[in-house]
Amino acid sequence: MSARTGPAVPTGPTGPAVPAARAAPAVPTVNDRCTGCGACLLTCPEHAVRPRGGALFVRADLCTGCLECVEVCPADAIDEAPKESHP
Ligand code: SF4
Ligand code: SF4
Repeated sequence: MSARTGPAVPTGPTGPAVPAARAAPAVPTVNDRCTGCGACLLTCPEHAVRPRGGALFVRADLCTGCLECVEVCPADAIDEAPKESHP
């Protein structure tokens, strides 16, 4: 008969593992008015605007919500946040 008590489980520190300040309050989205000028890619300090399938999208895990991309876009092609439809 063995007296196993199970594997030791690491407990680690009790403090927060990920800084909460990295969370973006709102992640902008690129709409179909985008002309592909590239201004937002050059402006984004986090390099969060990325090309995908001939269009652009914003990586939510990188975006800080600073909205500098919205400011520089000449085509009004970046929405500050996904719009909710209201009846
Ligand atoms: S700045 Fe506006 S128009 Fe230019 S690539 Fe970005 S989203 Fe498209
Ligand atoms: S809101 Fe700021 S961090 Fe997010 S994609 Fe636009 S420029 Fe980049």
